Amino acid sequence: MREGNPVQSSATKVLQDVFGFEQFRVDQELIIERILAGGDALVLMPTGGGKSLCYQIPALLGQGITVVVSPLIALMQDQVEALKQAGVAAAALNSSMATQERKEVWDRLRSGELKLLYVAPERLLLDGFLDELYNFNPCLFAIDEAHCISQWGHDFRPEYQRLGIVRKRFPDVPIIALTATADSPTRKDIIKGLGFTDDDLFVSSFDRPNIRYRVVAKDQPRRQLLAMIRERHGGEAGIVYCSSRKKVDDTAEWLRGEGVRAVPYHAGMAAQQRSLNQQLFLREEGIVVVATVAFGMGIDKPNVRFVAHLDMPVSPQHYSQESGRAGRDGLPAEAWLCYGWSDVVLAQRRLAESDLDPTQRRISHHQIDAMLAYCESSSCRRGILLRFFGESEIDCTADGNQCDNCEKSPEVMDGTVLAQKALSAVVKTGQRFGKGHVIDVLRGVANQKVTRFGHDRLSVYGIGAELEGPGWHSIFRQLASKGMIQIDLEGHGGISATGASRELLRGEQQFEFRKDTITRKASKSRKRKKKLEGLDAVQSSLFEKLRQHRLEISRQLEVPPYTIFHDSTLVEMSQLRPQTTGQISSISGVGQKKLEKWGAGFLEVIRSHGSTSD
Ligand code: ADP
Repeated sequence: MREGNPVQSSATKVLQDVFGFEQFRVDQELIIERILAGGDALVLMPTGGGKSLCYQIPALLGQGITVVVSPLIALMQDQVEALKQAGVAAAALNSSMATQERKEVWDRLRSGELKLLYVAPERLLLDGFLDELYNFNPCLFAIDEAHCISQWGHDFRPEYQRLGIVRKRFPDVPIIALTATADSPTRKDIIKGLGFTDDDLFVSSFDRPNIRYRVVAKDQPRRQLLAMIRERHGGEAGIVYCSSRKKVDDTAEWLRGEGVRAVPYHAGMAAQQRSLNQQLFLREEGIVVVATVAFGMGIDKPNVRFVAHLDMPVSPQHYSQESGRAGRDGLPAEAWLCYGWSDVVLAQRRLAESDLDPTQRRISHHQIDAMLAYCESSSCRRGILLRFFGESEIDCTADGNQCDNCEKSPEVMDGTVLAQKALSAVVKTGQRFGKGHVIDVLRGVANQKVTRFGHDRLSVYGIGAELEGPGWHSIFRQLASKGMIQIDLEGHGGISATGASRELLRGEQQFEFRKDTITRKASKSRKRKKKLEGLDAVQSSLFEKLRQHRLEISRQLEVPPYTIFHDSTLVEMSQLRPQTTGQISSISGVGQKKLEKWGAGFLEVIRSHGSTSD
């Protein structure tokens, strides 16, 4: 922050003393400045961007209570816990608490000791609650996951729509709304719902340079997933998204059988088991959660090292949000996606069966196409995702954490003739058969179905013998990603040629074909000891010891390990090996309270490691 402004320098002091961070990130500074000046803010920042500090620091500087509205009761406690560890007086009020516990919170409110109060929207809107709040002098309302206001998003919550009442009842109290969902209809709904103006909007870049994006064509998806985990993420925390509950259960069980500490999570499980699995993921190290997309909102575990999708997400926006749950701590992380034709068919079928109105259906249709184009593209994946958010493209080769396409440019060749053959076969077979059948015709497979329909007598029969099945599958996916073929919306999976294919069929357009790399390595090697990127062998072994020490403390206190210190703080300790209290206090993430509580213990681990490994 600029020097000379007493308000700004007090914010920096809180950042350093309480949270142990040296500097604000660019947008945080502007947002906090605005809130402290009494203004509102709609904060659009990617997951991991650092939204929490935007209201926590004003809360600590304000005279009165900051009320944080958060949709997930289960996670409020962890957020409160993390603040408590940093010495901040915070509490939650929700229906899962015992009467006595709630009474204690009210007592703390009355005594004026509390700085932050987390509540679910239902509670805030309860009769009389806002009246009560008057007595405690609210100085800021923070509305987390603010996209729940909008019917556009998949997380719409009717109670969120009524939050505009806060503005009416407390016209002079600033409101900060925060979300990682950035599309423009959602923004508009939030601005309207909370009585903001366009000037209140703060949009950060959605670029996540620490995430390495990779896409692989589906071959044997589970084996491909396992190979990815074993090769790059053994013993690390990750999320695996699947499109159905059954697949979640099956995949989690299979992974466990292969020695991965995996647990399932989906809305069909008993609430208690689901909550246990979530707690395990948050509180233990190295757990892999296999989940439907119901899992994730509000999960602020910083050291998720990979997010894998075993099925194609429904839109680039969803994908950015889901994959964005990797690497919130800024350390290298991976977003891995395994997709195939069946995903496209399934997505189209679900769309056909949905009760969306025609406009929404068209939007969803475009989103599926855009997702397919992302998967099939041969250009920078990070750049493609950014383009969906209206940001200019970047070149990730500069960052040393490249996406698969930048790391190794995919082999491209002229596929015009192949594409023409494929399209002709689609047309000649009547534009109503699935891809598998058309490929059989192309390859001259005289099976029952082919002969029954007389397709062995067509001119296209056997004209594609030069490619194996997977090669043709790839051609079809790429044709679909370029909008040249479409899948029958009635859901039978039949494909037809679109108007966009005409020029190609007439030979007036070229078709560039990207050779697929099937990355199924059924790695035989058992889990190997993982070395964190950027750490040498000695530093890695110190990091493991620090992690173990952190786990012991967190188990004793029954809190998630990251509320003690983040991985990024332990990495810095491993690299710098501080020897004194002064040295350890200058490490990012070590605030005053944490230094008092745990500084000596971590110093001890570092010192004893130093004497044995040098
Ligand atoms: P979001 O809510 O936007 O997903 P968080 O508020 O959880 O993100 O912050 C993500 C991570 O970044 C956390 O580990 C947080 O402690 C860290 N962080 C936030 N601001 C800073 C900063 N100014 N300097 C260093 N680390 C920060």
